[in-house]
Amino acid sequence: MSSVQIQCTRCKSVFRDRAGRLQDGYSRQCPSCEVVLFFAEDSQHPFIKRAMRSARKARKEMRELEAARLAAPEPRGTQSRRFAGRTRSAERDD
Ligand SMILES: [Zn+2]
Repeated sequence: MSSVQIQCTRCKSVFRDRAGRLQDGYSRQCPSCEVVLFFAEDSQHPFIKRAMRSARKARKEMRELEAARLAAPEPRGTQSRRFAGRTRSAERDD
């Protein structure tokens, strides 16, 4: 799970939290000044807005990555085979 940067609205220190958690209604304490930060989609604070935006982006990327992984063909057998020997002319069996 990828994490996003959050900047504290009070002490301005930067820390990280998981993108999956950082959704509307989430709150957490700043590790350095211990103020509780509230994350809401309609927040007016630029730090909160930025964190919400990067969390949304990270979640979207994770979904796309997962979808691509599921849609991708099996990697087995796709590696180019080296030509091990000369091509044999077809042998006849009478
Ligand atoms: Zn702080």
